[in-house]
Amino acid sequence: MDEKSKRIIVVGIPGVGKTTVLSEVKKSLEQLGVQTALAEFGKIMLEEALLLNIKNRDDIRRLQIQDQKNLQRKAATKIVQIISDIVIIDTHLFINTFEGYYPGLPMELINQLEPSNLILIVAKPEEIYHRRQNDSTRDRDIISIDSIQNEIELSKMLISSCSVISGAPFKIIPNDENHLKECIKNLVDIIMSNS
Ligand code: AMP
Ligand code: MG
Repeated sequence: MDEKSKRIIVVGIPGVGKTTVLSEVKKSLEQLGVQTALAEFGKIMLEEALLLNIKNRDDIRRLQIQDQKNLQRKAATKIVQIISDIVIIDTHLFINTFEGYYPGLPMELINQLEPSNLILIVAKPEEIYHRRQNDSTRDRDIISIDSIQNEIELSKMLISSCSVISGAPFKIIPNDENHLKECIKNLVDIIMSNS
């Protein structure tokens, strides 16, 4: 391992289970003796947004785009300062805003983050739909199963663009009900393969 932190960007539409998967991945890596930091992009943006009187991370996407961009830039600057063998970044390829989809990883930002790997977590649209409906901790957007399917298709297109821009390989990993363990193992294996 060289001195630079290795950054893994993990994306997936809301309700796909990223946060759950990633906390388990962190535990597994630490059991293997790999120092791991988990950077939740939305949480770090919220720390900055508190200064704008925003108290809930689901209100960030309802801000003016320019304000979101400023918060996004500040969060990225904080994330590149995190030093750990592995830094896993839990974020989004696109944000559903009033003006349409806004990129979570515009070119300058992905160049700043310099990821070694890109991971897209997917799940069956019906499962995502139910997870969103049952998540009382969040103010999730409730959209139709067809719209969720379209967002998954869009994610596949966008992850390939991010790969071309950054030169990092990308992998699409399913996180279907009852397959959580496989999803975690898949991710740990990728991270361990070149650590
Ligand atoms: P999450 O907890 O992952 O659902 O993220 C909460 C919120 O943080 C999202 O709804 C977005 O408003 C914001 N967010 C997360 N990642 C990004 C990003 N890369 N660019 C812009 N906004 C982001
Ligand atoms: Mg999450």
